[in-house]
Amino acid sequence: MHQLTLAEIARGLADKKFSSEELTKVLLARIAQLDPQLNSFISLTEDLALQQAKAADARRANGESGALLGAPIAHKDLFCTQGIRTSCGSKMLDNFKAPYDATVVAKLAAAGAVTLGKTNMDEFAMGSANESSYYGPVKNPWNQECVPGGSSGGSAAAVAARLLPAATATDTGGSIRQPAAFTNLTGLKPTYGRVSRWGMIAYASSLDQGGPLARTAEDCAILLQGMAGFDPQDSTSIDEPVPDYSAGLNGSLQGLRIGVPKEYFSAGLDPRIADLVMASVEELKKLGAVVKEISLPNMQHAIPAYYVIAPAEASSNLSRFDGVRFGYRCEDPKNLEDLYKRSRGEGFGPEVQRRIMVGAYALSAGYYDAYYLKAQKIRRLIKNDFMAAFNEVDIILGPTTPNPAWKLGAKNNDPVSEYLEDVYTITANLAGLPGLSMPAGFVDGLPVGVQLLAPYFQEGRLLNVAHQYQLNTDWHTRTPTGF
Ligand code: GLN
Repeated sequence: MHQLTLAEIARGLADKKFSSEELTKVLLARIAQLDPQLNSFISLTEDLALQQAKAADARRANGESGALLGAPIAHKDLFCTQGIRTSCGSKMLDNFKAPYDATVVAKLAAAGAVTLGKTNMDEFAMGSANESSYYGPVKNPWNQECVPGGSSGGSAAAVAARLLPAATATDTGGSIRQPAAFTNLTGLKPTYGRVSRWGMIAYASSLDQGGPLARTAEDCAILLQGMAGFDPQDSTSIDEPVPDYSAGLNGSLQGLRIGVPKEYFSAGLDPRIADLVMASVEELKKLGAVVKEISLPNMQHAIPAYYVIAPAEASSNLSRFDGVRFGYRCEDPKNLEDLYKRSRGEGFGPEVQRRIMVGAYALSAGYYDAYYLKAQKIRRLIKNDFMAAFNEVDIILGPTTPNPAWKLGAKNNDPVSEYLEDVYTITANLAGLPGLSMPAGFVDGLPVGVQLLAPYFQEGRLLNVAHQYQLNTDWHTRTPTGF
């Protein structure tokens, strides 16, 4: 039963082949048995899961239907869950039980999804390897000596290991797409404003966006349907109608114009990944797509701009964790200053402290213009590059990452080398565009992802292309040995 996708589960439940309660018990047992190897969960919510599963079964017995009714999922541990620890992967929030549900959590619960637990993540979503978590690193089910990617590494490892069919995740600079690539999953970062950020603990508010991680585009469509939509509680949520994503999966790719940016193929890209990217282009050409070389001339400035803007916003967002109102408080503070300093010094890990310092520096008087304002200008240039490209093509295709998953610990002493791995994903966040990563082959036994980018609110186009690709390839069906 653990091999079933969300779409297959929906059919099985509708056909009464099994109940949500039965499926939930199978998956909870599988998590108990296998997750100690991977460390993909921070908290399990067995009681809630069984209660939600029984309620979903009762709703089905009463004639209700719906693709998510009784479907088991998990939430990245930065989505607030009422009465349940919401740690954000940090000692700072190890003792924090959220007093309310995030909009995403509430919407999925209302659709009948069953929450099995909260997944491991980089501390405050800062990282590309899931090694900065207070709860320890997550291992990649494809090779347990390797990282699963980050910051949504727990969601990715759990879905890849078939502990559950799908999970929520968030993407500030690639944290849905990059772990999807490293673990052979399909992951979608929606347009900024498509999915509510209310109750999603903020890292960099102008970049953060929640989205689905699953094995197939078909399943991402189902999960995104449950997550997307206008939310008056999020001032950056956009009031645009949500299309029926599942209904859009079967559009023809005849005449689809794919742009492949020449800048993507510079030094730094593993040539074996470049070959797999071009093989995916060939596959899409067979389905009727036409391919064109395009240029994104400002791409080279994306990493420095992102690593100024994201820490700047983080330094502001994380100032609320001061040991006073909630979260970790140091023992026996001598005075208020000591309380602030030690609560933050002891509660935040080294990567978070590094980002707060970089961000506070970039925002300080005298440096603001030189760093933050400059980075914002670059951000606009990057957006303009995309707008120009989308006048010529319908979709942009390239690698999700320059390299496959690296060994645990390999980049611990060199944070910049880890930042450089985000080169293909961060531009979509800077521009606010939707992006999807889908499985496209293997290098040394490790999965490789291809990234598709589309114009604003064209999530449906991304899912359509990925679904058609997946109907004609079988990379996404490969399962890691032992799982
Ligand atoms: N790796 C990037 C960072 O560390 C992106 C993380 C994310 O998307 N949350 O900031």
